[in-house]
Amino acid sequence: MDPVWLLLLLPLAAASGWYAASRGHRSTRSAGSDIPQAYFKSLNLLLNEQQDKALDVLISALEAHEETIEIQLALGNLFRRRGEIERATQLHQNLIARSGLEPQQRLLALYELGQDYYKAGLFDRAESLLLEVAEAVDYSESAYRLLLQLYEQEKEWDNAIDAAKRLSSASGEDLTGLLSQYYCELAEERMGAGFYQECAGFIDQALILEQDCTRALILSGRLRAIKNEHQLAIGEWTKIVNLHPEMLPDVVGLVRQSYQSLGQLPDYRTFLERGLELNNDFRLVMTLVDLLVENGQPNQARSRLLSWMRDTHSLKSLTDLIESDAGGGDDSRSDRSLSFLIDLVSALFGMARSYECRNCGFKGKSMHWQCPGCKNWNSTKPAKTIPRLQER
Ligand SMILES: [Zn+2]
Repeated sequence: MDPVWLLLLLPLAAASGWYAASRGHRSTRSAGSDIPQAYFKSLNLLLNEQQDKALDVLISALEAHEETIEIQLALGNLFRRRGEIERATQLHQNLIARSGLEPQQRLLALYELGQDYYKAGLFDRAESLLLEVAEAVDYSESAYRLLLQLYEQEKEWDNAIDAAKRLSSASGEDLTGLLSQYYCELAEERMGAGFYQECAGFIDQALILEQDCTRALILSGRLRAIKNEHQLAIGEWTKIVNLHPEMLPDVVGLVRQSYQSLGQLPDYRTFLERGLELNNDFRLVMTLVDLLVENGQPNQARSRLLSWMRDTHSLKSLTDLIESDAGGGDDSRSDRSLSFLIDLVSALFGMARSYECRNCGFKGKSMHWQCPGCKNWNSTKPAKTIPRLQER
């Protein structure tokens, strides 16, 4: 329940009682005196944190005002907020069927009914109402905002693009970031279906709108790789090294595959080294360590890992301890010490990558371009890796 709403509604109820009474309306003779009383009663309940009861009192007082359209609209809104969608729908339908509604009142009632349908999951009905309402300048911004939510939910990206463009011109908002995400959605869809030419067109659209769009760059690289254009694919992913180094651990697997296909695995190491200069992420270090072990260079792997641990403040004393124990020794001992180190670092940090929304703090194990929590686009980033030791 939203108490702010209730508070907003209360003066309206009181004012309408006064308005009706001042016009000497016969039917509001009793209601005119009821409403101030209901106002104080529900205010009292609200102050006692009995919000549901406060609303019940208010609703029964407001229901007596069938003839006052503003009150009916407020009431319908209240029903919807309480989850009583059928009641809200009925009220708004009755309102629209009335004769003598002013055009603005009719539009508002239609917009409210559109919201009821949206809440009820009747998307087709909601869409056609909202499109009608959006034609009116006063309501086009709110209508397109709701239409955007609807199209996102339905994954109708073409329509979402159209609505976002109209919303942008109605509100003056810069929605290029959002639009490029929609084009990326279309590109992913087409890539999955094997329509590579269309996919390329959508990636281009996304990049025209937002030159450094990480998602579009990742997709562009993937499309090049599918077409066996591995050098060009690596070129796209290399842009991410400079623009968004925090996203690198998400593409290193792809980069490796392309270098492998080109028979240039040594260059993959150079790629990783350059990435590490910009993002000292432990997963990138572990990727490099794994590569060095695979290449038969365990000593280099060991010293890379130790040097990273030394740079990680919380592990400094542990690193000194390990290094003091390492002097000389045979190969099998040094192998054991390396695998111990790898196990240790993995245990300390956990190998799973986690992501966090910078807008609402939603955490998850996989990357979401649209946050499942707040529905914001492109606000999810890899979470900062913190040693488990520090969490305790
Ligand atoms: Zn979020």
